[in-house]
Amino acid sequence: MLSKAAAGRYAVGAFNVLDYNSTKAVVQAAEELAAPVILQTSAKTVTFWGPRALVGWVTELAGRVKVPVALHLDHCKDLDLIRDCIEAGWTSVMIDASARPFEENLALSRQVVEMARPKDVTVEAELGAIVGVEDELHVKEQDSHLADPRQAMEFCAKVKLDCFAPAIGTAHGIYKGEPKIAYHILQEVATSTRVPIALHGGTGLSDEVFRRCIALGCAKVNISTQIKYAFIDGFVGYHNAHSTQYDPLKVLQAQFDEMKKGIAGNIKLFGSAGKA
Ligand SMILES: [Zn+2]
Repeated sequence: MLSKAAAGRYAVGAFNVLDYNSTKAVVQAAEELAAPVILQTSAKTVTFWGPRALVGWVTELAGRVKVPVALHLDHCKDLDLIRDCIEAGWTSVMIDASARPFEENLALSRQVVEMARPKDVTVEAELGAIVGVEDELHVKEQDSHLADPRQAMEFCAKVKLDCFAPAIGTAHGIYKGEPKIAYHILQEVATSTRVPIALHGGTGLSDEVFRRCIALGCAKVNISTQIKYAFIDGFVGYHNAHSTQYDPLKVLQAQFDEMKKGIAGNIKLFGSAGKA
């Protein structure tokens, strides 16, 4: 899915789902736009519901559509949870050992690739530190968290990844100001590693930033915070407008509509509509 996207200079949306309803919103948006799509789960979400429940929803929903649907484990530091997800039916996993020294990050990432490969499960790994906007870094500190292109090349030469997440200045959460993207690092890493690049911290980037990053080699764009907002706003908005009505299915429908609208907009912007 991602090597095709990288070659075609578009990106596949990777949406963090929270429950059955958000999963359904992603799958239906992708089906209506004939787009390949990635359902992502945080380690916290997997722990909350249990791997089997999640795989059940995805199997049910993906089985009804014609578009390719991947199930990916986002940022996971726990090898036991990665193993559980691979066994339960995830088609892709991310090992995030980016807080560790280079050699340890490499060793852990290789270990996950060895675990995943026999099951045809793909692997994403991270280099540098993709911070949260709440981390309040100063400019100098922020630069020191970015991936070093030479290290990125060495990393990708030593572990065979399906997707690579170098820190290029994006952050998780809601941006307070204009994010400073290190396009030169992105370009150098994408060209030298030839591995499809994942863009983390997608929520809140401008259309222009998305287009530029995708043109430079980002083949997977992660959207999480936007879905959290739509999930809550859909609920609160409906209740505020119908404060005497206690009809849960109407609330679920309002959440679904709010989430799906944003997801469909992302898919169109990333250029993956019609690529299934
Ligand atoms: Zn991320």
